[in-house]
This record gives sequence, structure tokens and C-alpha cells, in this order.
Amino acid sequence: MRIVIVGGVAAGMSAASRAMRQNPEADVVVYERGEYISYGACGLPYVLGGDVDSFGDLIARTPDQMRARGIGVRLRHEVTGVDAGASTITVVDHASGRSAVEPYDKLLIATGVSAIRPDWAQTELGGVHVLRDIPDGQAIEASLQKAKRAVIVGGGYIGLELAETLHCRGLSVVVVEKGPEVAGRMLDRDYQRRVRAELEGNGVEIRCGTTVESLTGKGGHVTGVQTDHGLIRADVVIVAVGVRPNVGLARAAGARIGKTGAVAVNIRQETSVEGVYSAGDNTESTHRVTRRRVHIPLGLTANRMGRVAGVNMAGGDATFPGVVGSSIFKTFALGAARTGLTQSEADALGLKAVSVDVSSTDHAGYYATAKPIYVRLTAERVTGRLLGAQLVCNNHESVKRVDVIAALLHGRGKVQDLFEMDLSYAPPFSGVWDVLLVAADRLS
Ligand code: FAD
Repeated sequence: MRIVIVGGVAAGMSAASRAMRQNPEADVVVYERGEYISYGACGLPYVLGGDVDSFGDLIARTPDQMRARGIGVRLRHEVTGVDAGASTITVVDHASGRSAVEPYDKLLIATGVSAIRPDWAQTELGGVHVLRDIPDGQAIEASLQKAKRAVIVGGGYIGLELAETLHCRGLSVVVVEKGPEVAGRMLDRDYQRRVRAELEGNGVEIRCGTTVESLTGKGGHVTGVQTDHGLIRADVVIVAVGVRPNVGLARAAGARIGKTGAVAVNIRQETSVEGVYSAGDNTESTHRVTRRRVHIPLGLTANRMGRVAGVNMAGGDATFPGVVGSSIFKTFALGAARTGLTQSEADALGLKAVSVDVSSTDHAGYYATAKPIYVRLTAERVTGRLLGAQLVCNNHESVKRVDVIAALLHGRGKVQDLFEMDLSYAPPFSGVWDVLLVAADRLS
């Protein structure tokens, strides 16, 4: 049994480990075109910010550790073709330049996403970056050594994490966002404004409704960002405008690509081509609230999909349960989290949804560390079925209570179910009636 895995980060390495555990006799080989495997890309902004000492600290398992477990790891090996009829792949070894055709019994495509680089960002100018992997992070670190002014293009969670990081390193930071507010894909408008207020309150300049047209440069290095509202000077520009799933190999294998643009799979992570699996950021999943196919590329999803694929490729039986659209981030002191649907997403889907907004304190109101917390709880108007929640708080850890709602969404819980929950209480953690219970009470 030869199990071949393309891509050696979250989905690929989870799959490799699981496949090996499921069937220790299997020949498991991972091909990774880059130089690193098995690392936490989510930690990249925190290395740049100094909360994590080095990029090496993000690595969970080295190639040698994986090899010691019997997993073959081929770094700087790019898979350039798949012949699903013959059950072979074509691999280019970038060290030697040689190309080879290798057989597989089961193939996992775990190729992730690529950062979108609009036309204006396709430049040879130094100081212009995206952030997807460790080499990107190292390149940004090198650019930051002499930089004083940074422009971050894109007000999504990665852009906003970086805004804090670069500001705290002493750079003046401007975030340019083409939409009307930051965190636009994650939160409803009122909650987006709270995020923006936190950034502006800390000295980050936010320019929404602003489109980048081109870059300016001198001596081979970027000097500014030309927008439809004028020039912003910059020594470093980080482009964080979104990602595109890497579906080229899946397409070459003949696998169906879904309407989301990511690879379509069943609950066993099987593509439409026999023996070919797909997992991670390049792959669709099912949203448990809407039952629709979605592409929400996040870390836990990638690890879980990889695990499911690994078990199945090695002869076991595992299924991926779907997602509920949970995500969370911090910028400065503020944490923002959401799960399920926002009110605007529910409206766009034609659901008859109603929301309640509650502002309270995250800890008991009299407790020294208490900060305001804002919660929007959204439910189906007639049935009371919970649809989603958004939380924002200036004690960033406090928004992690979003997971209570995520758990209820998995079980298609109702507002009354939330209200009846026996949530923990002590003054340093919450009020006696936690803000989520207050929200449920108001929405019942
Ligand atoms: P990837 O990590 O993209 O790995 C795919 C690998 O496949 C790459 O190493 C690539 O080189 C390799 N590859 C591609 N094509 C080929 C080929 N043809 N041949 C050989 N190898 C190939 N998620 C969260 O849930 N929470 C967070 O806070 C969070 N923060 C993030 C912050 C940043 C800056 C970034 C970049 C991501 C963040 N994420 C976060 C997302 C999370 O990191 C991803 O969901 C996760 O890494 C996806 O893993 P993956 O294995 O699917 O893909």
C-alpha cells in the first residue's frame, strides 16, 4: 500500500501521521515543494511581533522526526502532474532538477492556498510581501530591519494581526481596505466598527473605501502605494487581500472543483476520482448551519480533514463532520470572534433571522480587570434555532466563550438551550449571568 501525500503542512502531515498509525505497514511518502513541513502558519505574525522567539519555534515536527516514525519526507519536491488512470504522479526534485514518475495506491492532495497578488502587486520591487509561510515571514523580517512606514493592504484578520505587530515594533502603519470597513468578511458592521476603533485608538491609520492602483519605487525598493485617494508612502508593503485554493493538481487528476472554487469531496475526503483524496485549505466543506458547501480555510479544519483522509487512505473509516464557521483573532487588546452566521449573512441567504445585541462586562462588573464585552446573538425567528454569534471585547481571551455557541450550533441548539446551560461562574471570569445567558434571555 503506497500512500502519497502532496503538501507537508497541517492537512498533509496530519494525514501522514494518521495513515501510519492506522496501517503501520503502509509506505507513506510526503512531497513538499518548500523547505519546511509541519509548522503552525498561524503563529507567523507572532514571530514578527516577538511573542514567539523564532520561526523555528513554529515547527511541530522536523523531517527527521517524521522519518523516525517511518514516514518518507521529500523536501523541495514539487508534484507537477497526476495521471489518475495510471495511478502515478510526476515529481520534480528542485535540488537536482530531475523529474520522476512515481506510483501511488492512494493519493492525498493537500496543497493549501496561495495568497492573491493583484496585478499591481506582481512586482520585482523589494519590500513588497505576502505572508503564507516561513520564508515569507523571514523575508518580511529582513525588510522590517530598516523600515519606518508600513502599508498593509487588506483589512482581514491577517492584515489586522500584522497591523498590531508592526505598530508595536515602532513602525507607522496604514491599513488600506477597499471595502467600507475592516474585518468585513467576519463581522456585522457595528462589530467591524469596534475593531476599527481599537486600531485607530492605538495609532494605526485605517483607510477604508480605498483601492490600491499601483506601487511606486526607487532603486529597486518600494517607496509608496498609489491609491484612488492619493499616495501613501511606505518602506514595506504587505499584501493581505485574500487567498485562492491551489486546485491545479486536483483538476489535472480529473477531480471535480466545487462552486466555491475549492476541491469538492465527500465526508470521507474522497474526491470524484477513485483513490484521490483532498484535504485542507484547498478543499470545500459543508456548513452545518446552512448545509451548504463552503470554503473556509482555517487551521483546525485543515488538521481534521487531513486526519480523516489519513485514516481512510490507510483502510480505516472516518468522516469529516463539517464546520460552523468559527473564527477568532486579536488586534492590540481587542479580541473578536464569530461562529455560525452573522445577521447580514443570514439575510443574504434569505433566512428569517433576528439578532439581539448585549453589552455587559466580561468579568463581574465590580472585579478590577472587567472590560466591556459586546455580543450579538442571532437566531431563526420562528423556531428559535441558534444561527450564530459575534463577540468583541478588550480582554481578548474573553471572546473565546464563542465556543459555547459553536458547540450548540453543532447540535442545532436553540436559544432556550443556551439559556438553560449551566455555565461556570466566578467573578474573575464572568458575571453570575454570563453575557451569553443574558443574550439568550433577551432573545427568547
Ligand atoms: P498549507 O499550510 O498552505 O500547506 C500546503 C503545502 O502544500 C505548502 O507547504 C505548499 O508548499 C505545498 N504544496 C502546494 N503545492 C504543492 C505541489 N504541487 N507539490 C508539493 N507541495 C506543494 N487559521 C486559523 O484557524 N487560525 C489562525 O489564527 C490562523 N492564522 C493564520 C495566520 C497566517 C499568517 C496564515 C498564513 C494562516 C493562518 N491560518 C489560521 C490558516 C492556517 O494556517 C491554514 O488553515 C493551514 O495552514 C492550512 O494547512 P494546509 O495543510 O491545508 O495548507
